Amino acid sequence: FLSGKRALVTGSTSGIGLAMARALKAEGAEVVLSGFGEAATIDALKEELGAIHIGADLSKRSGVEELMAGAGPVDILVNNAGVQHVSPVEEFPVDKWDLIISLNLTAAFDASRLAIPHMKQQGWGRIINLASAHSLVASPFKAAYVAAKHGLAGLSKTMALELATSGVTSNCISPGYVWTPLVENQIPDTMKARGMTKEQVINEVLLKAQPTKQFVQPDQLGALAVFLCSDAASQITGANLSVDGGWTAE
Ligand code: NAD
Repeated sequence: FLSGKRALVTGSTSGIGLAMARALKAEGAEVVLSGFGEAATIDALKEELGAIHIGADLSKRSGVEELMAGAGPVDILVNNAGVQHVSPVEEFPVDKWDLIISLNLTAAFDASRLAIPHMKQQGWGRIINLASAHSLVASPFKAAYVAAKHGLAGLSKTMALELATSGVTSNCISPGYVWTPLVENQIPDTMKARGMTKEQVINEVLLKAQPTKQFVQPDQLGALAVFLCSDAASQITGANLSVDGGWTAE
């Protein structure tokens, strides 16, 4: 049902973004890939999805502008690219703070501001922001990430109000722990920060927060993104949809 629509998913060479790109493509959308990766992997994804790929660095405003110019008018924008860094606040590397705020928050603002004119003009659009349970609650040692995701939730609600009568919706999807490279890669730092083994980090830190004791699967998030693009979801805007195994219910 998405044929004729162009979907840009930032950070879609891996993890959740890739699952979203695949799900949107399966419904007929034309997909624009973004993000980093090995040339051979990206070539394979371009072929699989019949997609173009723009490898701009979205932690820089000029990179977001390059992406949006290369993508052309988009009907569906998924602000997904993001990174994490785990450290106590007083030791938090300031360059990591700047990177996380730029990529996880400012890039979503810039991509949205550049995508909105076309969406408004045609009277239809979908902005889907990959926030996190950390847009609603905090965890220690994730100062920049928690700040950026709370900020993204605020941006998403503000855009929903501004766009309310235009046929364009803006929502957050807020996963708990999803089994992707982002989660896998933070295990060593969490082991260090908390003095734990890998198994302890998985069971006592990651899945401790998640009452279902299961990781969210990326394709479950792809299915929700597809639903948000449907007519059935036209009155869902300004929402922050938790997919976190009950984490934020506690
Ligand atoms: P991932 O590491 O698998 O993928 C991140 C993507 O962003 C990759 O495509 C990567 O190339 C791209 N990227 C990284 N830096 C970039 C940059 N400077 N410019 C352009 N692209 C860049 O991560 P993921 O787990 O799929 O996370 C995707 C989103 O979901 C993030 O915003 C993350 O915060 C959010 N999220 C993830 C989880 C989880 O448990 N994995 C939970 C909640 C929210």
